[in-house]
Parts: sequence; structure tokens; C-alpha cells
Amino acid sequence: MTEEDIIKFDTADPLAAHRRHFELPADTIYLNGNSLGPLSTASKHRVREVIESQWGNDLISSWNKHQWIDLPLTVGEKISPLIGAASGQVLCCDSVSVNLFKLLAAALTNRKSEHAVILSQQDNFPSDLYIAEGLINLLRENGISAELRLVDAENLEEAIAQSPDILLLTHVNFRTGEVHNMQRLTALAHDHDIQVIWDLSHSAGAIEVALDDCQVDYAVGCGYKFLNGGPGAPAFLYVASRHQANLEHPLQGWMGHRQPFEFKSNYVPDEGINQLQAGTPGILSMSALDAALSCFEGITADQLREKSLALSEIFLSRIEGDSTCKALILVSPREARLRGAQLSFSHSDAYPISQALIEAGVIVDFRAPNLLRLGFSPLFLSFSEVAKGASILKHIISEGLFRNERFSIRAKVT
Ligand SMILES: *Cc1c(COP(=O)(O)O)cnc(C)c1O
Repeated sequence: MTEEDIIKFDTADPLAAHRRHFELPADTIYLNGNSLGPLSTASKHRVREVIESQWGNDLISSWNKHQWIDLPLTVGEKISPLIGAASGQVLCCDSVSVNLFKLLAAALTNRKSEHAVILSQQDNFPSDLYIAEGLINLLRENGISAELRLVDAENLEEAIAQSPDILLLTHVNFRTGEVHNMQRLTALAHDHDIQVIWDLSHSAGAIEVALDDCQVDYAVGCGYKFLNGGPGAPAFLYVASRHQANLEHPLQGWMGHRQPFEFKSNYVPDEGINQLQAGTPGILSMSALDAALSCFEGITADQLREKSLALSEIFLSRIEGDSTCKALILVSPREARLRGAQLSFSHSDAYPISQALIEAGVIVDFRAPNLLRLGFSPLFLSFSEVAKGASILKHIISEGLFRNERFSIRAKVT
């Protein structure tokens, strides 16, 4: 592919104009929107307005005057179309980990076995597994027997056939980018009377998701990755309408109460998805996410998907067959449709390579023990940038630039 071809891609890109919504520093190729999405101008202005005008001037009246109180629901509604959910099923609140705790606990109240089994994948995102373990320990102390059963992706279908109570999976694997077939696995689980929880942290805003069509029971997802909500942005959760009437979860705080401002001493859950709220929402960060979601208006998840795959194909075409990059092993599926909006490569020097790239303005991340991970966020990346990023990677490897000692010093966050 020639430079002219790359320019043609950029010229024909229907999402190219969306780049201007983001405040990316000059000379930075940001292949890390899958870890922390960049700042949008909309978020910057909104947070300033919330601080200076709403909080600063209108003070407590802002809960009503600026509809702060409705933000978890209104942000949930904005996320819904990106994940194939009809209205009334998505709420923005808490972190993914906390939301998962609520939903796992809710699903476990409907367990079918004396000994409940939560089936998940060995290489799932660790926090999801930690949360399941913590909940299981808590239940055990209360005389309820449950276990977390972990299998490799290849053995998943066989393990589903053994009919566990809950299937907990992450749609796009955070290490390899491998995508599960949500439709098929959910249907298979339902055939065995299993409730299904999907983690959409690496899906929302990057790849099409059809929760309603797949008849998914529950889902959680992240606000600070492809949705660009900002560091520590609140997460979201989804509960299919059919489960909302008989839901029980242990974090029953006042914001999920039917009449929080009646201050009744007994808990009565609100109707609908709002019963999943616990405490007071963080309005500053939720406002940033709310504004960032405006950047998705008029764009379909299919368009996002198509562009992110095209970007990653351009990157791959530059690396593959290049003799200097032989030690860089693609661990993501080579077939585009089988991976999310990322590429991961293993390399024994993945950490110093990642640091040399970052110093050269190509922001990527490293995932232990030896993965170089690159995100292809479709809203703000251009094809030219991605091609340039690949050239810089080749240069760093072929010249051995990553061998400088300073690139081997590990920071606390990688
Ligand atoms: C990023 C990520 C999370 C984040 O969890 P938090 O509790 O919001 O920090 C959870 N699950 C997966 C799969 C992730 O990639």
C-alpha cells in the first residue's frame, strides 16, 4: 500500500471529521483509546460549566435545575444505542467492578442449584474474577455454597453444557482482543437455563453489540475506554427489562430507593433500572462522560467497527512480512472479524519497546508479561497516523532504540 492509498483512505473516511471533537496534543499518535479515551472539547467545556456555573453559582439547586439527579439514567440512555439496548435498561453508575458485584449477586438469587456455579474464562479480566471470588466468600459465610469455575476459551462450550448457574464472560478479551460470539454463546447458555452476564468494557464505542437481539440477561461496561468519559469515569450496567421486576441486589442504597427523599427507614427498590443505583452519583465525572457521548451522535456502531478494523489492517500490513519485525508475534486473531479494536503482539522486550514508542509520541500500552497492546479507536485516529505509528515501531526495532536502559524502568501503572 502506497502513501497515496493511505491518503485516499483518509479522504474517503466518513468519520474523519470527528477528529476535531478531540483535544489531542500535537505530534502524538494515540493508540491507547482502549485504556483511557482522550479528552473531547465537549467534556472540557461541560466540566468547566458544571464547576463554575452549576456548582459554583446554582449550588444545591442544580440537582433539580440542571437535572443532576437524572444523569445516571440520561447517560444510560445515550449509551443504549451503542450496545443494542432499547430504552430503560441501561444505567450509568459506579465502576465496572462494583456493578458486576451487584449483578452477580442479583443473578445468584435466581440460582437453580444448591451449589451455584459461576462459569468464567481463565484469562478474563482479573477484577471480574476477584469480584466473583469475593462474593462467593461472602455467600459461603452465610451458608450458601457457590464456586467460580474457570476454563480456557476452547473448553467454554463444553463447560456450558454442564449447566452452571451463571456464565460470566468478557466480550473482547483485554489481552488478545479476541471477540466472543455473543449471539451463539448466549443462546447456548439459555438452552441450558444459564443466566448470562457480559462485560463490554472493550466493546462499547468500538464494536457493534446487540444485547437485546442476543437476549442477554445482564451486562456491564466501562466509561473511560472507547467512550472517552475521562479517568475513572463511571461505568454502566444493563439489565434486560424482563428481569427488572424481580431483582434483588445487596448494595441497596438510597439512590435506588423508590422515594429517596422520603427518608423512610425501610428499603423499597425503585421500579426499573434505577433500582441498581446505590449512592450519590459523581456529577463531575458523569458530566464529562455525558458530554463525550455527544461525539457519537449520528454514528452507527457498524461504522465504528468498520473503521477500527480498517485502521488495524493498515497497521498490520506495514508490520507483516517486515524482516525487522519478525520477533513481534501477533497474538490477536489474524482474521479481522474475530478481534476487537486492538492488536496485541508478544515480544520479549515488549516493555522497553512500549516505552521507546511512547517517547517517540506513539502512545501504546504494555500488558504483563510480554504484550505490546495497541488500540484503534475509530473516532479520532486517521489512517496516516496509524501508518506512521507502524513506521516508527519498525524504526525502533530495526535500530534497537528500545535497548537504552531508561526504557526498562517500570512505572507503577503500565
Ligand atoms: C477496564 C476493564 C474493567 C474496569 O473495571 P473498573 O472496576 O471500572 O476499574 C473491567 N472489566 C474489563 C474487562 C476491563 O477491561
